Amino acid sequence: MVRRRQIYEGKAKILYEGPEPGTLIQYFKDDATAFNAQKRGTISGKGVFNNRISEHIFTALKGIGVPTHFIRRLNMREQLIRQVEIVPIEVVVRNVAAGSLSKRLGIEEGTQLPRTIIEYYYKDDALGDPLIADEHIACFGWASQEEMNDIADMAIRVNDFMSGMFAAIGIRLIDFKLEFGRVWENDYPRIILADEISPDGCRLWDMKSNEKLDKDRFRLDLGGEAEAYQEIARRLGLLEEEDASSVLDLDTHRKKRGR
Ligand code: UDP
Repeated sequence: MVRRRQIYEGKAKILYEGPEPGTLIQYFKDDATAFNAQKRGTISGKGVFNNRISEHIFTALKGIGVPTHFIRRLNMREQLIRQVEIVPIEVVVRNVAAGSLSKRLGIEEGTQLPRTIIEYYYKDDALGDPLIADEHIACFGWASQEEMNDIADMAIRVNDFMSGMFAAIGIRLIDFKLEFGRVWENDYPRIILADEISPDGCRLWDMKSNEKLDKDRFRLDLGGEAEAYQEIARRLGLLEEEDASSVLDLDTHRKKRGR
């Protein structure tokens, strides 16, 4: 196998040098972390499902005019992406109270919010990704006012699109996290959607049963994590029945062979 230069290894993905300047290869791992990486584990086949789910959503977003870093999927676990300067902000969009919002403000999980909320967190593992205000972003120069306007506009468009997409397959989009990157075109910076959109960074509840079909199954030790990711991929029409079981089987075989 050709050895590629690794650029970065994160909690759930690895970035390798791409085939052309300005490109990278994004590899999706099965590793899962929660509570600022205090809890660690693996979800068998997660990387394969997230690669497909993220491809599906980024391709659909491109179709409605949201610029993204996604170029094309290369194989089961890898996609070719544009290299960006990551804006060091996690953008969280919330439609329904859950997670840290419920904890921080004492609002019962599952409460529909009267309006969508966008929150910003400073991307810094050592600090535990603290909640920040626009004032901090401006003060420390993490993004310009113009860039923040673009980010907020795109976050709302992504939310509108994804809420409809998931509602159509019987899933409530509770909240999700986005990351954005900066690309330079003719010396001008432009903001595009980066990272991934998958059940790792979204809360997705079944509309009828309220069952959680996302990383909360891992966070809260509910079991059935791999099946939940698979169910999202299946409902999105990304897997035939046999495909889904073969992804999980293939992974088991690989692990047995120590690959
Ligand atoms: N989220 C994420 N990465 C993070 C923090 C949050 O992907 O580092 C996602 C999380 O999956 C959820 C949403 O952002 O869909 C809101 O998360 P919250 O602030 O409630 O934090 P949590 O309860 O996950 O700690």
